[in-house]
Amino acid sequence: MQFLVDKMLGKLAKWLRILGFDTIYLEYPALPEIREQAAQGRIFLTRNRSLLHIPGAVFISSDHVDSQLGQLYRAGHIDFKEEMWFSRCILCNVPLTNVSNEEVDTLVPEYVRRTASSFARCPLCGKVYWPGSHLNRMKERIGLIKLQAAKSLPAP
Ligand SMILES: [Zn+2]
Repeated sequence: MQFLVDKMLGKLAKWLRILGFDTIYLEYPALPEIREQAAQGRIFLTRNRSLLHIPGAVFISSDHVDSQLGQLYRAGHIDFKEEMWFSRCILCNVPLTNVSNEEVDTLVPEYVRRTASSFARCPLCGKVYWPGSHLNRMKERIGLIKLQAAKSLPAP
């Protein structure tokens, strides 16, 4: 699944990237660009009702990022696959490259080098990522989002 996200949804764009989804964020996308991206199968997420005529556009109803992710999950647009998390640069939206401990020698603090089991780097901006305490917090958060999504389904 690939997404195009417009203004007011910057936080959602960041979270989609954290979850591993290819997400283009454009504050003020021009109509031809939205149409072109949508034609290529990218799902257009917006808070602007006047843009819902674009095929494949999805209106995001909530202001809160957890509810927004819940909405996309319920609709089947996203899934929460742990192996996809933190596989993409949050800033550049490109897949990260695995790098060795030695390669990040001068780039991360020493205690991180000693404790982190693996590192990945963005090939564009050079930002270094490693699994840390945020992974457990993330699991907790996704668990709550799933629970909430299950609760808000209509009763069978
Ligand atoms: Zn980057």
